[in-house]
Amino acid sequence: AGIRVIKAFNRIKYTIRRYYHAMVTYYKTGQATYFMQIAADQVRVSPIHIIWPMSLPFFAYLGLKGTIPIITWGSIIYFSRALLYYLDGTYKFFQKFRLYLVPANRLFDTLDIEPAITDSPDAKSIDDLQGHVQFEHVDFSYQPGHPILRDILFEVPPGKKVAIVGPSGAGKSTLAMLLMRLYKADSGDIKIDGRSVADIKMHSVLSQTGVILQDTFLFGGTIRDNIRYADPKASDEQIEEAAKAAGLHDDIINMPQGYDTDVAEGASLSGGQKQRVAIARALLKNPKFLILDEATSSLDVTTEWAVMQTLRENFADVTTLIISHRLNTIVDADEIIVIDKGSIIEQGTHEQLLKKRGFYNMLYQQQSDILETEKN
Ligand code: ATP
Repeated sequence: AGIRVIKAFNRIKYTIRRYYHAMVTYYKTGQATYFMQIAADQVRVSPIHIIWPMSLPFFAYLGLKGTIPIITWGSIIYFSRALLYYLDGTYKFFQKFRLYLVPANRLFDTLDIEPAITDSPDAKSIDDLQGHVQFEHVDFSYQPGHPILRDILFEVPPGKKVAIVGPSGAGKSTLAMLLMRLYKADSGDIKIDGRSVADIKMHSVLSQTGVILQDTFLFGGTIRDNIRYADPKASDEQIEEAAKAAGLHDDIINMPQGYDTDVAEGASLSGGQKQRVAIARALLKNPKFLILDEATSSLDVTTEWAVMQTLRENFADVTTLIISHRLNTIVDADEIIVIDKGSIIEQGTHEQLLKKRGFYNMLYQQQSDILETEKN
């Protein structure tokens, strides 16, 4: 996965050396284990190795005494060898079973962990959420004593677009993750359609939420399967419709096998194409909420503009949370929330915030100056 970085930093010999040492260690350990196993097999004494020789004189005694006259030396040896074969197999099975109990116990320990975020007992399944979001005095920390978000209070009416901006590490992505219920607020509440998120089945919320992140992960498989990931029941026609709306269809049909082109974990698609796959996935889901977390920041300005346009056209009525460092992509948001060190420091439309001449205005002017310098 790191081959481009290795080549770009000219660390080929270094990497080969590291790989070689790792492999030599692996080989030597494997070799030692193998020989120890063989040695252990030679000296291994299972109960049957003791019972078998002990049983021979017993059968011989019975045979000589005439108690069981039909038993011959041959039948004794044959019988005890057969017995040895089966019992030894059983013994080996239990030995292996004991060996596998260690990882099995770890596996079950993991499976037994109770999820920290659960639906409340009377949580309801709601299939037609309107998309009204309220953050009510939300505090959150990943580790106790290190608050990440403090007293977050804002509201997004159904279908409106709210942008979250602020310096790196301010807590923007954390805020989106709280809405997706990947984490739980320490205090305060997040409400959807007036109901606490804990009282709505997690499945209902996630099945109506579309997410487009900075890096779109594509699974090994065809481009069709990758779009279908959002809805396994989607027909080929629905997938093509979504790809058309996302502006990806023409690119796909020019690929060697069209929709059946193997995307090899995304290696064969450009950044813009991957983002369009993410848009097609989101479209297929027909979401009530859309979360864009730096969704276009890896794209060039022209592609970014085209992708934003596609998003505006296709998700006009969808409640959208846009997290972005590039302020030119969020100027038309219904509301912009500025976060710094986990707290909301400014809130309003682009024009209102410019007039305020505060933090947002400073960020916007800085970015405009940089763009102006780049143009010249
Ligand atoms: P960026 O613009 O760089 O993406 P952000 O504003 O989205 O930043 P977050 O990703 O929300 O910021 O992170 C906020 C803070 O929480 C950071 O200080 C980060 O180090 C910390 N943080 C993020 N994820 C975790 C985690 N899983 N465990 C502990 N701390 C975390």
